[in-house]
Amino acid sequence: MDYLPVFLRLAGAAAVVVGGGHVAARKVDWLLKTGARVTVLAPELGPALALRAGRGELTHLAQPFAPARLAGAAVVIAASDDPAVNAAVSRAARARRIPVNVVDSPELSSFIFPAIVDRSPIVVAVSSTGASPVLARRVRAQIEALLPARLGALARFLGARRAAVKRALVPGARRSFWERLINGRAASEMLLGDEAAAAASFARELDTSGDGPGEVYLIGAGPGDPDLLTLRALQFLQQADVILYDRLVPEAILERARRDAERVFVGKESGDHAGQARINELLVSLARAGRRVARLKGGDSYVFGRGGEEVEVLARAGIPYRVVPGITAALGAAAAADIPLTHRRLAHSVTLVSGHAAAQDLLDWRALARAHQTVVFYMGVAQLPRIVARLRAAGAAGDLPAAIVEHATLPTQRVLRAPLASLAALAAREQVAAPALLILGEVTALAAVGLAPLPDRAPLPADCGTIAAA
Ligand code: SAH
Repeated sequence: MDYLPVFLRLAGAAAVVVGGGHVAARKVDWLLKTGARVTVLAPELGPALALRAGRGELTHLAQPFAPARLAGAAVVIAASDDPAVNAAVSRAARARRIPVNVVDSPELSSFIFPAIVDRSPIVVAVSSTGASPVLARRVRAQIEALLPARLGALARFLGARRAAVKRALVPGARRSFWERLINGRAASEMLLGDEAAAAASFARELDTSGDGPGEVYLIGAGPGDPDLLTLRALQFLQQADVILYDRLVPEAILERARRDAERVFVGKESGDHAGQARINELLVSLARAGRRVARLKGGDSYVFGRGGEEVEVLARAGIPYRVVPGITAALGAAAAADIPLTHRRLAHSVTLVSGHAAAQDLLDWRALARAHQTVVFYMGVAQLPRIVARLRAAGAAGDLPAAIVEHATLPTQRVLRAPLASLAALAAREQVAAPALLILGEVTALAAVGLAPLPDRAPLPADCGTIAAA
């Protein structure tokens, strides 16, 4: 390790920045966040710094650099576009033992700027020791994605309660209390922005030393690709200590859960009512035993996911729950197969339909057969011949463009396109297997026209050159 990471207190201290462009402006942004008194030395200021100078947030000296300007400075940053000036700043600062950072020149710097994740008071600093600023920024972005947006608020919330916990609990009990609290209900309420609920839960947890009821998170896992989990789904998944998951949830998604979490497979065949009753009982009994239960479902829990039924059971049993939305299969398939579900010319509405309802003839086929719309059938593969026959009888054209998206977003994805009249024959010939969606409507013919989508993992945008040496 070539550099010791430390956090510098600069509130009220003098900071000198040499240079007035956008690189200097980025450094000034960070310095001002710490409460430093910033002086910018530059013949002229770019728009960002000029704005701050106009607001009186910094002092601008339109003078060339001279070593005397460093008198009293706690920290110096050289961000001018003249290498000779930057070198002179470095020499002068080092002679006076003032910490100095020269942008893009680790060899002239006595400290370097990390890539920063700011959830103050939680701050994460990442450095590649100058080896690859772009890689450090990638690591920063990954951490950024992992940390809930309201983490800072949670830290402040906990900080404000340290004294109360100290009064209420003996030293040996405090640490395990905090650990339970951080993984528990008050913390998740805080992360969702409900401070009043969090305060009440905190008081209750302190009162009972944390042995309150568990809770259930109904998490939509998306269509299959683990990268299509939402950030919140990931956060709640990692809090759970037991996971009830369906057939549609692939191993790659389960791997994102905590290693020590217990996994319970509760997949059931369609229409298996006993199975659903067993799941309901399991949710209630696990939560009553104080567990944090993730109910992980394919797509979204509220789209053909029986989330409504499970929530009703939980509410009746008085068990706290959260619903975390997921990308439903129709949206995943549409993006993956390049089928816009609505389109100003071609489709003014989109309808999500259950194939089971088709089997039981519960549908308004005439409405579904009308033009200028998109209709997506879930659980429709087994019913395909019947669906096609009903739609045709209700007036749908035989040449209506249609598509089947099998295993959408998964490595095994296939997209088959055919006019409505030959869709069933195509599916039989290709032996289409669940899970698959039928998408009907003129929009399914669009991708053939050939927009050129970006490759699946588009390269990062080029380095925008504002981070110095991290
Ligand atoms: N709650 C889920 C739907 C569950 S019903 C959601 O919001 O997506 C199960 C049906 O969803 C399957 O029969 C299939 O029609 C569809 N489905 C789920 N995942 C799919 C996938 N990766 N590709 C295609 N269809 C999928």
